[in-house]
Amino acid sequence: MIAEMTRDTRVVARKLKNIESLGELEEALRDAFDLIDLQDELSVVRSAVIKPNVCWGEDWKTGGTTCPQMVQALVSVLREIGVNRVTLAEGSMVGVNTIDSLTKVGFADLAKNLNLEIVDLNEDETVKIDVPDHHVFEKIEIARTIVDSEYFINMPVMKTHINTLVTLSMKNLKGTIPQKWKKRLHYMGLDGGIADLASAISPDLIVMDGLVGQEGMGPLTGTPAHAKVLMISRDHFAIDVAATMAMGFDPSEVKHLSMYATRHGIDISLFRPVLVGSSLSDLNLDFEKPHYALEGAYEGVEILWGNPCSGCAGALSVALERMEKAGELDDIRRDGGMTVALGKDANPQENDRLILIGKCQHKNRKMGIFIPGCPPPGMIVRDIILKLNNVRSRYGGDAFIEEAEELYKNEEE
Ligand code: SF4
Repeated sequence: MIAEMTRDTRVVARKLKNIESLGELEEALRDAFDLIDLQDELSVVRSAVIKPNVCWGEDWKTGGTTCPQMVQALVSVLREIGVNRVTLAEGSMVGVNTIDSLTKVGFADLAKNLNLEIVDLNEDETVKIDVPDHHVFEKIEIARTIVDSEYFINMPVMKTHINTLVTLSMKNLKGTIPQKWKKRLHYMGLDGGIADLASAISPDLIVMDGLVGQEGMGPLTGTPAHAKVLMISRDHFAIDVAATMAMGFDPSEVKHLSMYATRHGIDISLFRPVLVGSSLSDLNLDFEKPHYALEGAYEGVEILWGNPCSGCAGALSVALERMEKAGELDDIRRDGGMTVALGKDANPQENDRLILIGKCQHKNRKMGIFIPGCPPPGMIVRDIILKLNNVRSRYGGDAFIEEAEELYKNEEE
């Protein structure tokens, strides 16, 4: 399961007619397997681990999670070929119970009906994997079920992401690391961390679920994108570049893809995946990008914009939007508003209603309330800003600050 350098950059992209039809999903998979000569390779495989995208328990029709029927179709086609033992493995996002999420989305019933083993990767043993020429992490701990699997199939959903522009195959690997490492990626550098993770471990196959994806402010609060698309490849860089282009974005804008490309000696501006079967334009997709309307958008909130990347801008944007909807910003306004500094070029003045967001603002941390991370998750930003309203931490903001400070201190030493 360790990343290798021989690349088969063929990508099959299929537009489907009826995404509710199990038969059509199975047929599309069989065709795709033929197009990239997978049948022979799979004929000697006896067991596979499928890693869907179930970060939390949202219904797949929101575009937030992998479609259970898509997994059912995949299991059925694998078993036709002789891959009989199939494990469903996922590690949900920080603070979310994996088994609860899998149950809510319908995977617990599916596993029972199809006799699949379920593994919570957040609770799994881990293996430390070296990352040669790393960006952020020299070693990463990955769940043993993934590392020891005979055949590893990654099943991401095609979504936009407020921090990373897109979340596809590489980003879905975050579910294969324990929760303390998920947090570590956010503390130390999410883009570089994803690139390192994708260099440490690469799936044998990626089956990308674009039946219903998510656009705009994904991956939690975006709009369902009824793309009706299925993409398949052996190469996670190739499929992520193809999917990013299909969504209508420039792959070089996706930092973790650019960083992965640099690490592997690929010129991302020249790289073109080999499309088999149909072209990207046949898919007819046009996803809305995440947008960050921040300056002047929220009364009582002064933004000191120091050229932040989309990571911190997205985290703040999502936090403010949720706070506005919940009426929490009204309390902030009533008590005198707040100033938020983000990005390395922001130069705030000390103030007891100053919020400093992201590792770039660590240098000014004594001037106000510092929220660590590169970038911090949106819910942590909200959790910590709510200190201004004397609200106790609900999503682990205090522990997040403590753990990050420890890491930053070690980094400085
Ligand atoms: S802390 Fe700085 S480098 Fe990191 S995501 Fe935020 S703005 Fe970008």
